[in-house]
Amino acid sequence: MNLMNYLQEMAVQCPYCGEAISMVADASNAEQSYIEDCEVCCRPITLKLSISEGGELSVEAWSENDA
Ligand SMILES: [Zn+2]
Repeated sequence: MNLMNYLQEMAVQCPYCGEAISMVADASNAEQSYIEDCEVCCRPITLKLSISEGGELSVEAWSENDA
């Protein structure tokens, strides 16, 4: 088993300023959400991580007001 396979670099778009930011998602821990500050505008982005049945990782970015 290779733990590195669980870490995937994802690109998300900041819901505030629209900048693309990259983050590393831990695919071994699915269905999680957490807050990460935008690198550009420093506002808190709510990231929601989910994994499909096929094992594909996806991430959604929400603003504080949308969440
Ligand atoms: Zn931003």
